[in-house]
Amino acid sequence: MHAILPHRSPTSPWPTLRSRTSQGLGPLRLAIAALALVIVLSGLVLASPAGAQSADDQTSSGAPAGNDESTSGAPPATAGPTVRDIVFPVVGKVSFSDTFGACRSGCSRTHKGVDIFGAKLAPLVAAADGTIVSVRRSSLTRAGNMVTIKDDEGWFYLYLHVNNDSPGTDDGANPQGWILPARLRVGDRVKAGDVIGYLGDSGNAETTPAHLHFEIHQPGVGVINPTPSVKAAQDAARVRPVASLASTPDGRAKHARTVSSWYRMLLKREPTQKELFAWTDRFAVGLGDENDLIADITMAPQRRNATGTVLRTFQVVLNRRPTGAEIKQWQARYQAGDRTEAIAAGVLGSDDWKAKGSLDDGQFVDLIYRNARGKAPSASVRRYWLDQLAGGRTRASMVANFADSFGVKDATWHELQVMLGYYAALDRWPTDADVTKWRRYLDDGGLLPDVVAVIRGS
Ligand SMILES: [Zn+2]
Repeated sequence: MHAILPHRSPTSPWPTLRSRTSQGLGPLRLAIAALALVIVLSGLVLASPAGAQSADDQTSSGAPAGNDESTSGAPPATAGPTVRDIVFPVVGKVSFSDTFGACRSGCSRTHKGVDIFGAKLAPLVAAADGTIVSVRRSSLTRAGNMVTIKDDEGWFYLYLHVNNDSPGTDDGANPQGWILPARLRVGDRVKAGDVIGYLGDSGNAETTPAHLHFEIHQPGVGVINPTPSVKAAQDAARVRPVASLASTPDGRAKHARTVSSWYRMLLKREPTQKELFAWTDRFAVGLGDENDLIADITMAPQRRNATGTVLRTFQVVLNRRPTGAEIKQWQARYQAGDRTEAIAAGVLGSDDWKAKGSLDDGQFVDLIYRNARGKAPSASVRRYWLDQLAGGRTRASMVANFADSFGVKDATWHELQVMLGYYAALDRWPTDADVTKWRRYLDDGGLLPDVVAVIRGS
């Protein structure tokens, strides 16, 4: 077993929750929010190259799937106007209307939540005391990044479209530290009002104004219209005040030097005003520390794309990690504009590769496929690649196809996190033993900021 570092859960003042049934709500306003329901999947893939982030998905059994993912044409359960006494799930200025049951995707499915529009990166808070039962840190689905809480009476609260952008941008970089605060993960207890995420536009909300798609699932009933519950929370002022989560200029100033120095060191630039504000504010209110910042910006696309490309190309061609010298050499080529295929061509010209002797196309396809997928290709896949090569496709192009694939990104994601975490924190690459140890830790649901904390303390 691996050590699990404790998650800080501040106490909160919210009362024990219960549910009641109200006397109807008047006519539902089916004002359909301007949701573009086409998943621009190719755009998302480009914007979030770490398809590998699915490796960080954490789910425990029994958690319902987010219904923005549903393709069922069945109408939602109509359990009447049940009102659950919750804490309002978003902090700050918001707007929402009742669109529960409205058509989506040409009525092939219906809307099963309430869309709460608010400021990008507005804190999302736990609607009830409970346990985090699932976390998805991947934008590559309709629901996007997502958090689910189960309360002690078995009700589920689902938070969809959780943020996937760097502060002050719409870059889709999926910065891990701005999806959830600190190190929240599956199994953690939360109290109503605790911050459990940041409002954003991930998934199919990418082209809409930022909003939280919030669902409530009632035990024995299933999804219910959450609008009456969020309305009641707002009316009863069960809302976490903005002031409770905002620092003062003095509070932020204390952390400005720390934040700026890590940006200079890791990204070779000053933080933008929005980045500086966002991080210093979080530090000041206790929702993050230096290790979160390091973990976050060492995995920024600017850093991870170059190292990740080299790592994956070496994996596919040579079935090993590049050495520090090799990373440096090929990163320089990446910075100069080379991409995967050019780097693959270079590695295929290396002495290490030449030492394998000359391989015919069949041997080449078998080797590359095994390095990328861990098994032999099927007869039809093998045939496909042999035809491609016979038709003039280069070997480097075949390597690039695998090195840039979701499967290889996924398989090397935690390795990349360990490598970049070490390089950021200790200014050296990890040893094989380091990689083995921490990769297993991350595979088991550990989080990079915790790795950074331990190696910086070591
Ligand atoms: Zn929605």
